[in-house]
Amino acid sequence: MLRFYNSLTKNKENFIPIKKGKVKLYTCGPTVYDYAHIGNFRTFLFEDFLKRTLISFGYEVFHVMNITDVDDKTINKSVKEGKKLNDIAEIYTSIFKKDLENLKILPPDVFPLATDHIDKMIEIIQILINKGHAYPTNDNSVFFSIDSFKDYGKLSNIDMSKVITGSRVSSDEYKLENPSDFVLWKAYKKEDGDVKWSSPWGDGRPGWHIECSAMSMQYLGDHFDIHCGGVDNKFPHHENEIAQSICATGKPFVNIWMHSEFLIINSDKMSKTLKNYYRLDDLLKEGLSVEEIRYIMLSAHYRSKLNFSLEKQHEAKMAIQRILELNDRLDQFVSTEEKGLPVEAENFKLALSDDLDSPKALAIFFDWLRKTNRRLDSNKLSQSDIDKGKNFIYLLDSLYSLLNKKTMVPDEILVLVKERERARKNNDWEKSDKIRIQISKDGWIIKDTPNGPKITPK
Ligand code: AMP
Ligand code: ZN
Repeated sequence: MLRFYNSLTKNKENFIPIKKGKVKLYTCGPTVYDYAHIGNFRTFLFEDFLKRTLISFGYEVFHVMNITDVDDKTINKSVKEGKKLNDIAEIYTSIFKKDLENLKILPPDVFPLATDHIDKMIEIIQILINKGHAYPTNDNSVFFSIDSFKDYGKLSNIDMSKVITGSRVSSDEYKLENPSDFVLWKAYKKEDGDVKWSSPWGDGRPGWHIECSAMSMQYLGDHFDIHCGGVDNKFPHHENEIAQSICATGKPFVNIWMHSEFLIINSDKMSKTLKNYYRLDDLLKEGLSVEEIRYIMLSAHYRSKLNFSLEKQHEAKMAIQRILELNDRLDQFVSTEEKGLPVEAENFKLALSDDLDSPKALAIFFDWLRKTNRRLDSNKLSQSDIDKGKNFIYLLDSLYSLLNKKTMVPDEILVLVKERERARKNNDWEKSDKIRIQISKDGWIIKDTPNGPKITPK
């Protein structure tokens, strides 16, 4: 049984999906007005880890990640640079997708663009007006009345008695100190350039929050399992999503809300505003590998702040090296494809099931690794231990993806390597050569060293 901390109820809860065996997951995607930084990617890596864990526990996951291609930030940027909104969005969306792929983040099943769903947003806003939860203003904008939803403020613990009834905020982002009626539809202003859509209330554009309600409902239905983001998404974005969605449908919206803590640099949040950020490319240029970056990000619990520094590379490198070394040692033995896992893997899974305790799971894995190396040194591993050990490394890698897949030599190749060694021992050079060519055709190079054959990808 998986348990997750639900930011809405502030409790760890058993995870019971709405439909047995299936999980509908929505994660707020990037605002494509600029490059994403590794702070953003901490959140996307947490979501990837959640998804990989759900898959590993046998769930079928349907994942939607939106692209925010129209909001205050994207419009400001397009006006400032004199470029079309679409052009700005396209550039940063394609860079974002390339970064996701480089970071080995599993792609979502749907990657909807906000600008492709304006009709759905208008439909929801109209329902909210009809039900008395929203009202148009003189300038042809539409606002959501937070007084009209009794549970407003539950996610971010707002003291509603301090709210000034009827006060309004029209920017997408604002502070927890001024919870107010928020904008669903923004009337066109000439600062918006050519960014506008027609609506029953006149030309304009959607507010940021309604975008995610519309896209999640479109692909996951009115009620789904898990919704994620970084902690800064709690207010106002997710608070407003909850209000709009529940008021529009009259149904529950999301069962579990999960938020990851910030990546920080010397106690400040990594952000574009503070200019204290690294992009993925910056880190790759500094010589960090994708696997090292994944290790650094996943070695902290997602609900703890993580202080990033380049010095963390050393520990990550050593840890990955140790896994690779054990993997190499176990690869010297042919596997018999026994399916099980070592007993230690039970605790590893237990740690993951306890609100994704990734650092604890890693600690359990490395304890097992140390023990296994010692037992290898004294020839105490049975064939079954070897098979189970390989399976454990495979399980670890299916979640953390720390090993470069290409260096994990497939068993079929290892069988060929063993056969070739046998042929060489018998001075059957013709056979040994034939096998070498076969191995090469399969994409691997075999090099004979004093310590035995070394296999590397071509
Ligand atoms: P944005 O593109 O600004 O909408 O941000 C994309 C995601 O990154 C959101 O879910 C944010 O909560 C998250 N985020 C932004 N800064 C950080 C940070 N320093 N650490 C972790 N997550 C962050
Ligand atoms: Zn969102």
